[in-house]
Formats: sequence, structure tokens, C-alpha cells
Amino acid sequence: MSTIPRLRPGDRLVLATHNGGKLREFQELFEPYGLQLVSAAQLDLPEPDETGTTFEENARIKAHAAAKASGMLALSDDSGLCVEALGGDPGVYTADWAGVPRDFNHAMKRVEDALQAANATSPGQRRAFFNATLCLAHPDGRDVIYNGRCDGTLVWPPRGDQGHGYDPVFMPDGYDITFGEMAPEVKHSWSPGQEGLSHRARSFAKFVENQIDH
Ligand code: IMP
Repeated sequence: MSTIPRLRPGDRLVLATHNGGKLREFQELFEPYGLQLVSAAQLDLPEPDETGTTFEENARIKAHAAAKASGMLALSDDSGLCVEALGGDPGVYTADWAGVPRDFNHAMKRVEDALQAANATSPGQRRAFFNATLCLAHPDGRDVIYNGRCDGTLVWPPRGDQGHGYDPVFMPDGYDITFGEMAPEVKHSWSPGQEGLSHRARSFAKFVENQIDH
């Protein structure tokens, strides 16, 4: 049972991100529901440090900081790749493994080197999942969390030039191509009443089901 009333057409939300790409993606997802999104960057809100050790903690940190600073409902998204043979790494440090400035070829190689060091060579030893956690926070401190997960296998070498981040090494269950070889419409496909494929589509499906009047 949600502790924040369901959202209705015309409601305004702040998206707790300074990433323009994330804003566009969420604006497209919310457009059919008549919800208006403005980003933390557009409101000039400060960016909090992501000091949590779980996706939920970091999602909460971002959403509550934006809700408090703006006085509006705020939505955040925290995501990452968890590799079974690496005890769940890189997990909440998925972006950090790409260094500064971000280099995802380096990040994918780092994961592969760690898998080789762990002797994880067969597909069964190379299981991983992407996680996406959404947090909707109210300025008064209430919040709700929705998690989405997509399981698959890590391949090497990287395949495909679509998508972003770790997409070229991640082959979702039920497919013989990687996210990097997949059209974005397929990766993010989702329609009302369906589960969706990607972790983000799956977390969004739960959000819509439980949190939006439609
Ligand atoms: P954050 O959620 O913005 O903190 O960062 C999540 C990190 O996970 C980023 O570095 C992304 O590259 C990576 N990531 C999240 N979702 C995906 C995906 O669908 N494909 C590839 N990489 C992803």
C-alpha cells in the first residue's frame, strides 16, 4: 500500500537528476499520463553526494534532497550492474568503475578482468543483472520505492554500438543478442499491463501500476 496518494494528470514532479538524457527519457515515459516533469538541474537544486551503500539508499538520498529543496514531489532513479561472481559488484559503484571522465570501454574491461581473475569463463559463471530503483518522495518525508531487475549473462568481447554504458556486454535472458545490439525500442519496450524488458522499463511498469491514476 502506497504512502503517497496516486498521481493524476496535471501533477508536477521534480526529477532528481542533473542528467539531461535521463530527463528526456522520463519525460517520454510520463507524457501519456499527463504528468509534468522538471529536473533538479532546471530548478538549480544542489546535487547531493550519493553516500549510500544500496540502490534504495541512494535513490532515497536523491529524491528527498530534491523534494525538500523544491517543496514538490520528487522522483529519483538509481541503477547499476550486479555481477554474481563478483559478489554483486560493481553494484552502486557501477558509474564509478567508468572513472573520470567516464569511459565505459574501460569499465567493461574492468568487469571482464575481474571475471577472468575469478575464473568465470562459462556462461553459467557469468550471470549478472541490471537493477533500477525508483523513489518518489514527498517534501514531508514520506516515500515509496519501486525496483526493476533484468537478468542475463555477460559476454566478451563487447557486441553492438547501440545503447550506453555496459549495454554491449549484457545479454538479457531469452535473447541471443546484447543490449548493445538491440534497438532501443526493444530494450525499453513496455506497454500498460506488460512487464517490459529492461530494468528501467520494469521499475516504471510497477510505478505506473501502483502510483498513477490511469
Ligand atoms: P546512476 O543510476 O545514474 O547513478 O548510474 C547508473 C550506472 O549504471 C551508469 O553508469 C550506467 O552506465 C549504468 N547503467 C544503468 N542502466 C544501464 C543500462 O541499461 N545499460 C547499460 N548501463 C547501464
